[in-house]
Amino acid sequence: MHDAVYLTKSRYTAGLQCLRRLWLNVREAGVWETPESGSTEDVGLEIGRMAHLLFPGGVLVQEKPWEHAAAVARTGTLMADRSVPAIFEAAFEHSGVRVRVDVLERLPRGYWGMRETKSSGEVKDHHYDDVAVQLHVLRNTGVRLSSVEILHVNKAYVRGQKGISWPRFFRRVEVKTETRKRLDGIEIRLKQQLACLSRTQAPKIEPDGHCHAPYSCEHWDRCTASKPADWVFHMPNLNAARRTELKALGVESISSIRRIFVCHRANRSSAM
Ligand code: SF4
Repeated sequence: MHDAVYLTKSRYTAGLQCLRRLWLNVREAGVWETPESGSTEDVGLEIGRMAHLLFPGGVLVQEKPWEHAAAVARTGTLMADRSVPAIFEAAFEHSGVRVRVDVLERLPRGYWGMRETKSSGEVKDHHYDDVAVQLHVLRNTGVRLSSVEILHVNKAYVRGQKGISWPRFFRRVEVKTETRKRLDGIEIRLKQQLACLSRTQAPKIEPDGHCHAPYSCEHWDRCTASKPADWVFHMPNLNAARRTELKALGVESISSIRRIFVCHRANRSSAM
């Protein structure tokens, strides 16, 4: 088995969007690339570090992504130490799924709170899936969770003269109920994704609207390289259902639609 055959939260969300994207990201791209300074990922990491300020006394699991087993062991040690109020980048693994939880907050009576930080100004629909895969792993490794929150940037916050108030800079939103709904069928989806990563070649998936939601796929140019310049995808007001119909007819270019329309009219005239 290829040594890249495991899932993480970012791999899982990539796979939800498109299995081909998952395969290309993992099997062809550099797995441990550091985000460029100023990139979206870099900003996200910086926001995540700022969120740590909301949990004074929290301890960071410093092990790198490629040291996952050591990170899991270190997390276990920190969880057993009651003097640690929160763990940053807490590591867990279950059935080929590895996660690092942004913040695992110790709560009363042996419970924990899972905190996911986002650099966006609101909770977005795809965030629930991101959190759900972590919830799935933590539940299956015996972590008792009583609260699941997304911490996002508070758009209404205005910095005061005394500097930034980090508790007011972030909004904390309880998302446990919504996230639980995303657990339905997650085992099947995870198995499909792991099976996809075991393949020796990327699955063939036609580019379409899914390539731009929730993320703009980094493989768009590659997947669309053989499409005609007047590809029907670029036709305004043509919805996905119509594109599928045209594809079934073997029509890929806008000029072909016109040809088919003209032929159709000619056939009808000669039949009269
Ligand atoms: S461009 Fe579209 S089809 Fe290609 S990998 Fe990305 S999401 Fe999948």
